[in-house]
Amino acid sequence: MMYKSIRGMEDILPGGIRAWQSLERIARIELESNGYSEIRTPILEETAVFSRSIGDTTDIVTKEMYTFVDKKGRGLSLRPEGTAPIVRAYVEHSLHRISNQSRLYYIGPMFRSERPQKGRSRQFHQIGAEIIGSSEPQMDAEIIARLSDLLKLFGLEAFQIKLNSLGCKDDKDKFSGKLKNYLKGKKNKLCADCNNRLEKNCLRVLDCKNEECVKIVKDSPDIADNLCGRCGEHFGKVKMMLESYFGVQFVESKKMVRGLDYYTGTVFEVTHPDLGGQDALGGGGRYDNLVKEFGGPNVGAVGFAIGIERVFIALGDKKDLFGSPGLVYIATLGGDAKIKGRKLAEELRLRWNGFPPPDGRLYNLNVVTLLDWTDASLRSQMRSADRNGARVVIILGDDEIKQNKAAIKDMENKEPQFLIDIGSVVDEVGKRMGLC
Ligand code: AMP
Repeated sequence: MMYKSIRGMEDILPGGIRAWQSLERIARIELESNGYSEIRTPILEETAVFSRSIGDTTDIVTKEMYTFVDKKGRGLSLRPEGTAPIVRAYVEHSLHRISNQSRLYYIGPMFRSERPQKGRSRQFHQIGAEIIGSSEPQMDAEIIARLSDLLKLFGLEAFQIKLNSLGCKDDKDKFSGKLKNYLKGKKNKLCADCNNRLEKNCLRVLDCKNEECVKIVKDSPDIADNLCGRCGEHFGKVKMMLESYFGVQFVESKKMVRGLDYYTGTVFEVTHPDLGGQDALGGGGRYDNLVKEFGGPNVGAVGFAIGIERVFIALGDKKDLFGSPGLVYIATLGGDAKIKGRKLAEELRLRWNGFPPPDGRLYNLNVVTLLDWTDASLRSQMRSADRNGARVVIILGDDEIKQNKAAIKDMENKEPQFLIDIGSVVDEVGKRMGLC
């Protein structure tokens, strides 16, 4: 019997893991150095955590969640997104007592039972960040700038940030009424799903991809033109700060509402031309009522999530720039050589694997050292270096060490090996690997 992974849920094998590790590492360093702390919540939550926040009528909750009843009769769900669990944890542990603004980030798998296709899987991974504790427009601008900076650090350029505002809950309710009136007259032209949405959650009609619905929606009123004074001012400040303070480019996208109920005020989505049908790299927005609805203080919050698989699709061949560190194989002959070899390996790693990475490189794991401390012959150690794909071999024998020398063999250009001072080995390896 041969088992396979569940459809839409993929193994990430050692051959492909470097890109994942580098991307996650870049995200951690960038976010941590901007004052964000990691939070890890369980992958399972009570179903209500999602249904009450994302919304009972949304596709995620009605069709896509992996929900089951456990032996004690509790309704549980695999998390389809990261924000609701974080708000649950923020309230449960009274994180507002620790700081007036909690900057949090997460990296991990999410689960949605959608039809798998390119860019859409049932287990996918997100990197996300939230600022909880403030309703200030500065926070919206900061979170969008973080998102933009991260994508650039991953090596992406051609992405586009789309921005809109849904206004406060009152604005959303009033606008929903207006939109409903407009759409009601065209009811028979809308698809069956949208007829349903019209009754339950008519903003979602704006998200529909059906050709006829898109046509009808084109001339519908725009939510951002129907904001109250405060929300209009807030949105104006966000745009102004993005332009003047962060220098982040965006386009206003007046029909974008995003599919989750908890959003209020600013919403955004990032698209990339190379993604095809599933063109969103990430998205997010403000959710000023969620913390209070979960029993916490009345504080605002804003966040984003990036889909890691989609980043890799958008990177295309550039993905190979991540990882593939050069292997330095250290062959040793004799007891002193093994001790010296261990020190040398440590020096190499310290020198060439530091952060930030040298220009033009995306990943800081530049050098992997493999110290051969078997008592095998030099010939057999060299064979092993070759089989392991070594880029450079350092050969240390007790005789060479007595003269403070080491032999270097460059496996790429196949030139004969040569002797150099031990003190120059770290630099020499760096030069051969293009690190300096
Ligand atoms: P959402 O919360 O739906 O806006 O998701 C945020 C980001 O996660 C999207 O922009 C995608 O990059 C990614 N994402 C969402 N659903 C999936 C999926 N089923 N498969 C792969 N990536 C996804």
